Amino acid sequence: MATEQNNINLKPYNSFGVSQIAERLVEFTSYDDLHAALTADPTILAGSWRVLGGGNNTLFISDYHGTLIHPVSKGITVSAERGDDVVIRVEAGEEWDDVVAWAVSHGLWGIENLSLIPGQAGAAPVQNIGAYGTEVKDTIESVEMLCTATLNRLVLGGEYCSFGYRESIFKQSLAGKVIITAINLRLSRKPAPRLDYGALRAEVEKLGEPSLENIRQAVIAIRESKLPDPKVLGNGGSFFKNPIVEPEVAKKLLATYPDMPHYPAEGDKTKLSSGWLIEQAGWKGKRVGNVGVHDRQALVLVNHGGATGGEVIEFAQQIVAEVEQKFGVTIVPEINIVG
Ligand SMILES: Cc1cc2nc3c(=O)[nH]c(=O)nc-3n(C[C@H](O)[C@H](O)[C@H](O)COP(=O)(O)OP(=O)(O)OC[C@H]3O[C@@H](n4cnc5c(N)ncnc54)[C@H](O)[C@@H]3O)c2cc1C
Repeated sequence: MATEQNNINLKPYNSFGVSQIAERLVEFTSYDDLHAALTADPTILAGSWRVLGGGNNTLFISDYHGTLIHPVSKGITVSAERGDDVVIRVEAGEEWDDVVAWAVSHGLWGIENLSLIPGQAGAAPVQNIGAYGTEVKDTIESVEMLCTATLNRLVLGGEYCSFGYRESIFKQSLAGKVIITAINLRLSRKPAPRLDYGALRAEVEKLGEPSLENIRQAVIAIRESKLPDPKVLGNGGSFFKNPIVEPEVAKKLLATYPDMPHYPAEGDKTKLSSGWLIEQAGWKGKRVGNVGVHDRQALVLVNHGGATGGEVIEFAQQIVAEVEQKFGVTIVPEINIVG
């Protein structure tokens, strides 16, 4: 049954560890439970509301005057088998990394490179999580959701989710209109290691053959060596998206900075590295009060303890301004800013 709490401190509910207050938090254990709660209490959707998963991509910059809807639904089941393909149905409240561990232990390929990304399964399609050359979109068979206008169940095929780089329909036309209740992932029994990204191949080779277990272990080892653990040092992972610029902008910058990392992007555009731009602007490892840029990864802003969301955003705005001044490129947050 759905549970409700009032005036709750969000510190344990966001990886930045900021202490804002939410007026109301409603937790649901299944689609039916959510449907019953919303039918019984129309005030939940009548005022401000939003979904809060694990809070690993969310920065609260003020108290939240409304209702946070939080999935705590659990369950991973096989819903279809077609040749080598196996479709699994995952409840929104499952921890994403538990899903990866489950797939690996069942010999299923497709999401092993996405090991250790913090957050809930229901949030995975929202920003099309990605790492080490893999994006979750490549395995999404469909997404199940509740439409908040009609309280009907909707199922959207992966091909209709408008997935892009850290983008999806859930951040665009369906934002604030649906609550994702489960995802269906199409995995495969057929081995398909993807090792061409960064140091992954070398890390896997240290462990032996490119098996599912070795890839998962290698990804975890690389991530643990590079990224701060939010339980130790509050952070929201990459704070900014990598900017995608017109070819002539990239060309002009490369004339001045020939070593600047750059990658081809859709529509003949060029993707730059926000981490590199921030580092070159002199912000890597820099600290102002309780907020700082991580010393090993310039894309990650950290809460050194006691920072408010307001302090974090003020700090981020200074970085954006200096990057813009130095390179003429505007970097935008990947993280969801709420308040
Ligand atoms: C240390 C660290 C490392 C990270 N590394 C990566 C990485 O390698 N790659 C990557 O892509 N991301 C990464 N992230 C970002 C983060 O892990 C992902 O964005 C993840 O999907 C967030 O899940 P969450 O449940 O915490 O989402 P939340 O922060 O709770 O929510 C994120 C957004 O999704 C919406 N949402 C969440 N659940 C639902 C739902 N059930 N229905 C509808 N909307 C929903 C929320 O309203 C919000 O807009 C990292 C974060 C941290 C802290």
